[in-house]
Amino acid sequence: MRYIRASFVHLVRRLAMTQGGNTARRLVFVGSHLEPCLIQEEFPIPKLKSGEILGKFRMATICGSDLHTISGRRKEAVPSILGHEGIIEVIDHTRPTGAKMKKGDRLTFHVVNCCGECERCKDGLQQKCLSLFKYGHAPMTSDSQLNGCYASHIILHSGTHVSKIPDHVQDRIASPVNCALATMVNAVSGLDGRNPHRETSAVIQGCGLLGIYGCALLHEAGFNKVFCSDINPERLAMVSKFGGIPLVAGQQDPSSPKDNSVDAVIEVCGIRSVIPEGIKLLRPGGVYVLVGMVHPDSKMDVTAEQIIRKCITIKGIHNYGPQHLDDAVAFLSRTCSKYPHEELISPPYKLADFFTALQVSQKQTYYRVCVEP
Ligand SMILES: [Zn+2]
Ligand SMILES: [Zn+2]
Repeated sequence: MRYIRASFVHLVRRLAMTQGGNTARRLVFVGSHLEPCLIQEEFPIPKLKSGEILGKFRMATICGSDLHTISGRRKEAVPSILGHEGIIEVIDHTRPTGAKMKKGDRLTFHVVNCCGECERCKDGLQQKCLSLFKYGHAPMTSDSQLNGCYASHIILHSGTHVSKIPDHVQDRIASPVNCALATMVNAVSGLDGRNPHRETSAVIQGCGLLGIYGCALLHEAGFNKVFCSDINPERLAMVSKFGGIPLVAGQQDPSSPKDNSVDAVIEVCGIRSVIPEGIKLLRPGGVYVLVGMVHPDSKMDVTAEQIIRKCITIKGIHNYGPQHLDDAVAFLSRTCSKYPHEELISPPYKLADFFTALQVSQKQTYYRVCVEP
């Protein structure tokens, strides 16, 4: 946290000098080894190219991957503007007429910009587009100066899918929709818990924001029991509010699911040691969805024989496609008063208080800390 504190001091001084005009403010990440590692600067908003959208942030949330980048555990190209979860208001756009968008609309956006033309895009795997661009992860270039969420504005490229936020869904609860919720919508797609012959169940390994969203999504998908396990009992308190059954990892109690009984297991904790337990729990024909272990320390202790004899499907999920974003917005629209989504998100912090927001984020008091640029 040493570097972040230093940058905070820097940030406030810059803020006092730069206010107003047709400019944007942005927090530039220059590398975790530098002090300050985040520099706030003011920047003239460039003229829009064809198909672009200029959005003003109404809210952004701090995803765990950004904490890893700022602490140096994860490497990103620099200089860059971090942050990829957020809600914007359309200030201007150059999308063709008929794009069903007007100034003032509240939008969320696909975290990736894709070409729509390559074989991967045509196969429906837009997040693996051959000319992929990822907001909040790409370096700043002369062509792309406002491309992350820790800024007052963003310019969305012509190939970026956007989805309109319904009026009754607040900014705060909608902000994580374009990373955490859409990814989880992708993870549960194809899992249906409705079975006329028997009870169905699922286990989610990890009780972060993805785990909580997973409880509600699987509950809505008809699973009779959705267990969510974690080593942190405090985090598990939220599980039952989202339709799940909390399980303290490593502790056996009578209500725990039995071996060979679970239809689906979803890993969102990023820890490889949970895999053998998940394999044991799965019933023959079950599905294991891997979401969280996006790091090199992910070698799994599972044999091909286990997979074959149990007829298990193991599926990897990375990010999501445009349809998942639309489905995530629709899910939020349907369930925003059914589940206490607002309890997951902190009160908003100003961009100038980003240091405090980061500190709160690391304490894990909230599932997401939000920033109001
Ligand atoms: Zn994220
Ligand atoms: Zn493509």
